[in-house]
Amino acid sequence: MKKELRKTFKNANLSVDMRVLYAKEVQESTVVELKKEVRRFGHLFSRPPLLALILLGSDGASVTYVSNKRKLGDEIGIEHRDFFLPEETSESELLSLIDSLNGDDSVDGILVQLPLPKHISEEKVISRISHEKDVDGFSPYNMGLLALGEEALVPCTAKGIMTILEYYKVPLSGKSVTIIGRSNIVGRPLSLLLSKKGVDATVTLCHSKTKDLERYTKDSDVVIVAVGRPKYFDSSMAKNDAVVIDVGITRVSDSSRKRGYRIEGDVDFSSFENTDAMVTPVPGGVGVMTVTSLMENLLKAAFLRKGVEA
Ligand code: NAD
Repeated sequence: MKKELRKTFKNANLSVDMRVLYAKEVQESTVVELKKEVRRFGHLFSRPPLLALILLGSDGASVTYVSNKRKLGDEIGIEHRDFFLPEETSESELLSLIDSLNGDDSVDGILVQLPLPKHISEEKVISRISHEKDVDGFSPYNMGLLALGEEALVPCTAKGIMTILEYYKVPLSGKSVTIIGRSNIVGRPLSLLLSKKGVDATVTLCHSKTKDLERYTKDSDVVIVAVGRPKYFDSSMAKNDAVVIDVGITRVSDSSRKRGYRIEGDVDFSSFENTDAMVTPVPGGVGVMTVTSLMENLLKAAFLRKGVEA
């Protein structure tokens, strides 16, 4: 299918072909609002919001994620303080750094890029970040609020997916949604957001031990795939007019590419051509909104700490 054709179908209610749910335009509209909020924060507190970014080691994917966060932060006007530490950094050194950032009033949010080296407990590190500065939303406190349906800093990928669904006006109330993957960073928080009062979807959370997965996916209005296996999900597993959200990001070796790899999602995108489905692309889909949601969380945290409604 030609790109122009996809674009034509994007905003029209045509069902002759698959529609692509691009995230770039969702991001653009969110960024406009974020810039306004950064200006408002600056007027009120005479400084930009500040994000502390902590990265241990030089894993290629992690370096790319951190660089994307810095770039979008620069575009919006958020200041960042970078702590690029050696992989051998000890757990206690990392915890002391977090303690000092927790106590530093000029820091509004703290992000520790995951995964961490094996000698460090991610749970300990996540729990140590002050819940007010927990812009990833992974702390037990924020996850607890989310589980209770209360206002929280919500994990960025799950939040980004909700923004995409809202932007493209995907009906959710009373609809059946299957999420494949129950991780604490994607599937589980997303299941809470989608089943929340006011959103009102009926959610099935599937995982590696789910038997007869297609029994759920073939009956679902929306399927969200967060497994981490390239092309795992194809059109034979979905309703003809399903909304399919591809969360997967896997680096696959590819000698034809300058960088030696390509990025693949969990969804076999081309299998949905000539269906009535709506599908997010990879790249250009959920990943774009994950970074954007981080900036939303940072602003929310910054305002909340000052006692001002975000
Ligand atoms: P994870 O490894 O923590 O969880 C994977 C989940 O998939 C588990 O719950 C597991 O039970 C389930 N699973 C594994 N094999 C399965 C199978 N055969 N059938 C059904 N379920 C199966 O992974 P994660 O951290 O949630 O990430 C999943 C994918 O999403 C990865 O590719 C990751 O890179 C990507 N990701 C993307 C973003 C983004 O911004 N786009 C953010 C986070 C993660």
